Amino acid sequence: MKIENLCVNRLYGDVAGATTRGHKIAIKGGYVYQTFQGGYTLTPLGWSVVRKIENIIRDEMNAIDGQEVLLPVVCTADLWKETGRYDSMDNIAKFKSRSGTDYVICPTHEEVITDYARSVLKSYRQMPFMLYQIQTKFRDELRVRAGLIRTREFIMKDAYSFHETQEDLEKYYKRCFDAYYRLFKRCGLKNFVDVLASSGDMGGKFTHEFQLITDMGEDTLYICDCGFRANKEVVDEESAVCPKCGKKLNKVRGIEIGQVFQLGKFYADSMHLTYTDASGEEKTPIMGCYGIGVTRVMAAIIEESADDNGPVWNMETAPFAVEVIGLADKENKTFELAEKIYDDLKKAGIEVLLDNRDSRAGEKFADADLIAAPIRLIVSQKNLANNQIEVKYRVNNFDTSSLPNAIDVKDYLKTIQDLISKLSQQ
Ligand SMILES: [Zn+2]
Repeated sequence: MKIENLCVNRLYGDVAGATTRGHKIAIKGGYVYQTFQGGYTLTPLGWSVVRKIENIIRDEMNAIDGQEVLLPVVCTADLWKETGRYDSMDNIAKFKSRSGTDYVICPTHEEVITDYARSVLKSYRQMPFMLYQIQTKFRDELRVRAGLIRTREFIMKDAYSFHETQEDLEKYYKRCFDAYYRLFKRCGLKNFVDVLASSGDMGGKFTHEFQLITDMGEDTLYICDCGFRANKEVVDEESAVCPKCGKKLNKVRGIEIGQVFQLGKFYADSMHLTYTDASGEEKTPIMGCYGIGVTRVMAAIIEESADDNGPVWNMETAPFAVEVIGLADKENKTFELAEKIYDDLKKAGIEVLLDNRDSRAGEKFADADLIAAPIRLIVSQKNLANNQIEVKYRVNNFDTSSLPNAIDVKDYLKTIQDLISKLSQQ
């Protein structure tokens, strides 16, 4: 991609209406565009990052034997009436078709997946299994917070597991828990924890939230040195005393990036989902569910890792692995070489951005900070005189101090490939 063709609007100076640093940077860098209050367009840059986060999630969900599906965004009201949530959940967007059928825009998918499970689950031999999707949700929130943290429309990964016994559910819950730690780390998040939470509208009694600890967060968390961690719904806020050890709890703020539930039999019971057990008896399965706010994860990465100049991605989440910047010289030799490097990297299957615009170096570097390719190659007259290309790094969670600051013009392709594979190791 050449930077002049990248269909993204970058802003300079102060951004009106953005309340957090991360939101400001997402708008300045042109990762998102607010189409309406609580609804964002993911631009070519933002969508690229989100797709990469999705692929990390896919990878880790497949590793714990998840099977990916895609459920409908819009659903008839009848399934939601079976569980009673059509009336009890207050943030479901409802509408009527021209022929008078009641529909909902799904804010979550327990009913839809349980209906699908009714069509496939017959025998105990099929369990355990887990189905997941990465899908758009819509919630008719009364209040939206500026930015990508609380939006009306968002992308979520939601997974649902089905089990014969509580013991089996707990075993799988633990596997999913561990997968969450791996995948958030792979996304580049650092200061995140699991906390005990109440289950709200989802049914069940056992639930944990994954929270990124940050002052920008809208959730209040209580943390104790003994290892106890919970959100405010679980603890007595007035005394703020640890229920485990009796010490005073520390209050911090967090952004919820994921949640795991042990749903129990609520959905299976109310929707008559059954299977035949080993003795031929009809039984009700036990369910678990596991969510991740995918667009929120992008916002959380920016919130946690950005500096004043822009976001900092890692090799797995960056929209481009390499940006090549040509700095003007009299004979245009720099531009020629920059273009050649760009062509060669592209041919080698590397995601690369070229900035050969006829503009000031300062402007190019400011844009490069906002796009934040982990490897930045600068082709300048000064370095070319030594047959070298300057290299700069912008990468999350990686000590680049031992990596070279310049590479030889001769064998740049091999060197860059080596650098990419080094930076991909976490
Ligand atoms: Zn304690």
